[in-house]
Amino acid sequence: MMKVLLIIADGLGDRPSPVLGGKTPLEAAIKPNIDYLAKNGITGLIDPIAPGIIPGSDTSHLTYLGYDAYKYYTGRGPFEALGSGLKLEPGDIAFRANFATVDGNNIVRDRRAGRIRSGTDLLAKSLNMKIEDTDIFFKEGIEHRAALVLRGEGLSPEVSDNDPHEENVAVPKVVPLSKKGEKTARILNEFYDRSRKILNEHEVNREKREKSMPEANAILFRGGGVVPELPNFEIKHGIKGGYIAAVSLVAGICRLAGMKNFTPSGVTGSTDTNVVAKLKAAVEGLKEVDFILVNIKGTDIAGHDGNGMKKKEFIEKIDRAIGEVLMNEKDSLVIAFTGDHSTPASLKEHSSDPVPIFIHYKGSRRDGIENFNEMSVRGGTLRLRGNDLMNLLLSSANMAEKFGA
Ligand code: ZN
Ligand code: ZN
Repeated sequence: MMKVLLIIADGLGDRPSPVLGGKTPLEAAIKPNIDYLAKNGITGLIDPIAPGIIPGSDTSHLTYLGYDAYKYYTGRGPFEALGSGLKLEPGDIAFRANFATVDGNNIVRDRRAGRIRSGTDLLAKSLNMKIEDTDIFFKEGIEHRAALVLRGEGLSPEVSDNDPHEENVAVPKVVPLSKKGEKTARILNEFYDRSRKILNEHEVNREKREKSMPEANAILFRGGGVVPELPNFEIKHGIKGGYIAAVSLVAGICRLAGMKNFTPSGVTGSTDTNVVAKLKAAVEGLKEVDFILVNIKGTDIAGHDGNGMKKKEFIEKIDRAIGEVLMNEKDSLVIAFTGDHSTPASLKEHSSDPVPIFIHYKGSRRDGIENFNEMSVRGGTLRLRGNDLMNLLLSSANMAEKFGA
């Protein structure tokens, strides 16, 4: 049996880029260590969900870990709340929320409170409270965005939004969409009223009033869903799992799966992160558990920025870290390297383009690919969907059982 290291360079896949002479970032990158492992291992393309489906990082990580995303992905509310860094529990009800500006007649004047940029952490802190027996957690996100979470007995996501999705109309009361949603609607309406008072008197808004800036004096929420209960990773796969991820969305999913956190301090979730520290923590963690997922976010950030050059350079940084940390470990580990989806710099968004993958372990077949990239791996062994990945990794590590006699 070997232990498994799954490195996910977030949004790794790409398309040919004019600033890279028509090559993809992966193709243009100088990456001797990645190329060595790919050449001496098996390679191919992975459709994270299925051909033509554009994955989010949440749905693809769920799928890679062996969970049916169509069953366990309960909407953007819960998963964005996971991404906010709130430590959610199964059964929590979570909403996407906005700081907004409403006038004295409760009419929405700005759904985004002037795209407020500062002070939202202080405002958010003031909105954690208890109503009846329900704990309410509120966490700021980027600009006007935030997450609203309810934890308590008898709650349900079967309630209407209070976000009218347009301006110059009144903020509607939350209404239950079924009998189950009655308590939740009552608590949300109470939360809205209390938060109006708290925000109105808050120092951050007092300063905004003095400067005649739009006040963040109301909370609009939408898209409520229940945080899913994921079957425990160890029970599901029969091995102990761990994770390393600076991005709270990925960390939150792994945490829900009961995996152990080995994330070292000082990682950033962007291109300035310390990849060496992450890989070292992974090698160390694999003394304790059988499988570790490492998410490295910088590739996706560069893709969203539309910066193919930066993506190429970040891939080179990953390669140097692999060279420094993993080349001495390569005969004792199954090392898999892929992305959770493509984020082509030309699109600045995720795409359904399949993602290159290599799996290297001692004694594996050799596909002989010289330059590991989106095109070359078409000549490789593998063509798979994300939900095949755990099976493939377990069998590579001699941890799978025979199907049949
Ligand atoms: Zn992603
Ligand atoms: Zn992304």
